[in-house]
Amino acid sequence: MKEWMKNVRNVTPYVAGEQPADKNIIKLNTNENPYPPAPAVRELLNGFDTDILRKYPDPDIKDLCAELAAYHGLSSDRVFCGVGSDDVISVAFLTFFAGKKKVLFPDVTYAFYPVWAQLYGIPYEEIPLKEDFRIDAADYRRENGGIIIPNPNAPTSILEGIEFVEDILKHNPSSMVMIDEAYIDFGGKSVLPLLEKYDNLLVIRTFSKSRSMAGMRIGYCMGCKEAIAAMNSIKASINSYTLSQIAISAGVLSVKDDAYFKEQCGRIVKTRDEALKTLAGLGFTGPESAANFVFVKHESLPGDYIFEELKKRRIFVRHWNKPRIADYLRITIGSDEEMKRLYEALNDIIQSERK
Ligand SMILES: *Cc1c(COP(=O)(O)O)cnc(C)c1O
Repeated sequence: MKEWMKNVRNVTPYVAGEQPADKNIIKLNTNENPYPPAPAVRELLNGFDTDILRKYPDPDIKDLCAELAAYHGLSSDRVFCGVGSDDVISVAFLTFFAGKKKVLFPDVTYAFYPVWAQLYGIPYEEIPLKEDFRIDAADYRRENGGIIIPNPNAPTSILEGIEFVEDILKHNPSSMVMIDEAYIDFGGKSVLPLLEKYDNLLVIRTFSKSRSMAGMRIGYCMGCKEAIAAMNSIKASINSYTLSQIAISAGVLSVKDDAYFKEQCGRIVKTRDEALKTLAGLGFTGPESAANFVFVKHESLPGDYIFEELKKRRIFVRHWNKPRIADYLRITIGSDEEMKRLYEALNDIIQSERK
């Protein structure tokens, strides 16, 4: 071991889904949107004046915060923007989870939460989901240093109601409660209205899934103005210039085109609801989804087997070799054409197994 290595921080990093270079692969493994971003975003990039790149971007990201605030009916000082919601959540962990008590989140959830907790030395406890993968609000009536839950949860795709979140808020007035709404635009009801009643709520959103802009890296959160000010202090202590001016402008244009946004989300919801039916016909079961992915297991074939067989047929989905979910696949909703090829491949895998 080299001497300097003794001073290296040890982390077990988050493992993202594969991003294969081969364009012919049907990529249903990272919940990306199959449709293009708003047309105005493309026009912006086609005619972008590169002179803007000489200068630093606006460190306060004012234009995008104002656009999002107006969109959600809030004041600008209640919105925080970051480089994808991963950046937003990371700053939120640093800001609000600085106590000594354990932070709580479900045992089956976004796998990045325990990574940030470990990196920042935040004590945490993973609360087991119920047998049917639901989250029980009563499990969050215990001493804690904060709570984070995605709604809909990932990778289960299950949406909990507003009463569920309100129950948690009521029982935890001294903790920051973060609701990660990465998938809320696919038919779920946001808990945003609760912001008027609870100043310990933080609602987190991303442009990566519903706005087709994973590559641009834009995320944001909304809370009371004291909470947002606290996050801005932490951000300004790490990196003042997070979003590029290109991302800020593209983000504003995406938010402005609400008709396009709603239309694309509607298309995905329709394909998703058909997908659960088609997959049921192929012997798959899984919870009703409120996201842009489904979480399903087959009646006889193991999860890792289907995962590998799909890969051989150049279709990538997501699979975790973890207790309780090892037989499940998380399949992103693609275009109708991509889904058709998925069903054909699954049919082929199931038929060849029967021979
Ligand atoms: C995808 C995802 C994120 C992160 O998205 P960004 O691309 O960093 O905005 C955060 N939380 C959940 C639950 C997600 O699925």
